[in-house]
Amino acid sequence: MPPKTLLTRYLPTTRKIVGIAIIWGVLCALAFGGAAAVALHHKRADALDLLARNLSGYVITLFNDLKNTTDQLQPLAFQECAQVGQQLTSRAAFSLNVRAFLLVRDQTAYCSSATGAMSMHMVSLTPRLNLNLPLDMSILPGTPMLPDKPAISVWFRNPVDPGRGIFTTLNIDLTSWLLHTARERDVTGVALIIKDQAIATFSPQLIDLKNNHLDTTPIRIASVSGYPMAIWLYGESWPLEDIQLTLLIALLAALPGALASGYLQQLRIRSGKEILAGIRRNQFFVVYQPVIDSKSLTMIGVEVLMRWERPGSGLVPPDVFISYAESQQSIIPLTRHLFALIARDADSLKQLLPAGGKLGVNLAPSHLYSPSFKQDILHFARSIHDSQLQIVFEITERDMLKEEESIAIFQWLHDNGFEIAVDDFGTGHSALIYLERFTLDYLKIDRGFIQSIGLQTVTTPVLEAVLSLARRLNMKTVAEGVETPQQARWLIDQGVTYLQGYYFSPGLPMNQLREWAAQPIPRPDSGGN
Ligand code: C2E
Ligand code: CA
Ligand code: CA
Repeated sequence: MPPKTLLTRYLPTTRKIVGIAIIWGVLCALAFGGAAAVALHHKRADALDLLARNLSGYVITLFNDLKNTTDQLQPLAFQECAQVGQQLTSRAAFSLNVRAFLLVRDQTAYCSSATGAMSMHMVSLTPRLNLNLPLDMSILPGTPMLPDKPAISVWFRNPVDPGRGIFTTLNIDLTSWLLHTARERDVTGVALIIKDQAIATFSPQLIDLKNNHLDTTPIRIASVSGYPMAIWLYGESWPLEDIQLTLLIALLAALPGALASGYLQQLRIRSGKEILAGIRRNQFFVVYQPVIDSKSLTMIGVEVLMRWERPGSGLVPPDVFISYAESQQSIIPLTRHLFALIARDADSLKQLLPAGGKLGVNLAPSHLYSPSFKQDILHFARSIHDSQLQIVFEITERDMLKEEESIAIFQWLHDNGFEIAVDDFGTGHSALIYLERFTLDYLKIDRGFIQSIGLQTVTTPVLEAVLSLARRLNMKTVAEGVETPQQARWLIDQGVTYLQGYYFSPGLPMNQLREWAAQPIPRPDSGGN
């Protein structure tokens, strides 16, 4: 199986990738949708503030103009209607929105721009006005000429004689106010409130606030400073348009967010960044499997085996991640990391092993033939120099296919004091040919052979032949995967140099290896059954 297919079991599954991508999509949607909502809300709030200010300004100007006009009319309140009625009428005709100007003295309206001389007590005309104030306002349901059309009545007291003044009625054209608002689409209604009365675009009738409830949650209040009135603006707090736009932006952000997440996850897997990330996050560690001398039954060395504890996947088997790292060009950084991990344990190993104890280190073929190989190896050797361990590089038969290069590399390794072991011997092809061509120190017999011991299979005679060949070639032998005392006994009797396997111990982290070394090593003749 190709390494990637093998690794997929330990790397994130498609379901997990999709799950993470969806989470990223949702996060992007929330982030961008949220930002859009905030931005739209701010924009709208600013527009509404501006609109309320504009409307205030407009209405204030309207009333200031009216006040200017009435100021000019105030002297007329000292004269009789017959003399000034004409003038009053023409001023009313030229004042926008004005229905009528009335001259008032002693609480009585005595002259109207619309109907001429009259005499009507102000209380019956407009009971809500307080004539003692310099300026007062109220809303009338209608006026004699337009009984069904509400009007604003305004009282301007004479500044010289408080008993006199000008009373005026105005058309209320809220629609024109509404038109005055810059962004009408947001504002759906306007209400004008004076004391406990209101008129609104959404109600043809005057609203008595004592009996009727006006919606008290306007989106803005435009104050009309200097006049006892207020303008309330109504509208959608979240216009449909903004909601749609927010949702659209969220959706547009979710899609690339999810796709980018999925793509980056895939990229990471494909580029071997998983291994580099694992190194950075300290997910790799090493265990040491004791190698036993079959004559003295003591630990004469260890083989270093790498482990990858990947959160979410658990322990990834080394043959899986090693071939994955090789296929993704991350085996060299991984091996350098392995060397650094071993160097940390060098002092402890020195204490557990005899002088010249063997340190078996597996090498990956792609590292063997890389330009940095020699430099990496020398650096590693220097880092554990004080431990006085004998480094044995384990290489499989497969890695010896490049014959010329292999001879040169093996020569270099020997020249620099390293030993070489053929790993997994018996699993490759034409194994015997290689043995005669290269000078190698150890033959590690694959556990497939060892498992056949005592089972009367055809492999046992092959094993015997291999051992006698090794003797002839002056190579030491290591039996891998020794699991039972019978196997150990048989291998000792056949003269195998070293034994390694679960019968003695699996690979152990340094602290457990220390505990193991303090116990007696099992003896296959006495402990067996
Ligand atoms: P290997 O070099 O043949 O290592 C021996 C493997 O056999 C180890 O598996 C070990 O745990 C296992 N083993 C030892 N005794 C027994 C036994 O009695 N019974 C059975 N059934 N198995 C036993 P592990 O650790 O899973 O390693 C598998 C392979 O991964 C190694 O095979 C080696 O080729 C590779 N590997 C492990 N660590 C490294 C490393 O640091 N660098 C490189 N390049 N390859 C490594
Ligand atoms: Ca090995
Ligand atoms: Ca092996």
